[in-house]
Amino acid sequence: MKYLDDIEDTELFDYLDKIWPYESAKCPICGASEFTRSDRVFNLIEYQIKSWDDNPQLFPTLPLICDSCGYIVLFSFIHLQNFIRRKRQE
Ligand SMILES: [Zn+2]
Repeated sequence: MKYLDDIEDTELFDYLDKIWPYESAKCPICGASEFTRSDRVFNLIEYQIKSWDDNPQLFPTLPLICDSCGYIVLFSFIHLQNFIRRKRQE
């Protein structure tokens, strides 16, 4: 399921520039500065549940993948959505 169709790349880059400025955006593993963002949002699922009927907590994330080593940086998609909503109201 895609979630990013209504978010412009410029909005995403504004968000990333605010929280992780380009000049300091380096992979913590290999030091490379080129990343590819996923066009999909992924959920982290709460680990300790007894059954799916327990309604585990979900945590939507937007991954950025280091082009050099494949390290994955996860950003909260809720935080991203809130940032974009505030920007659109300005
Ligand atoms: Zn890397």
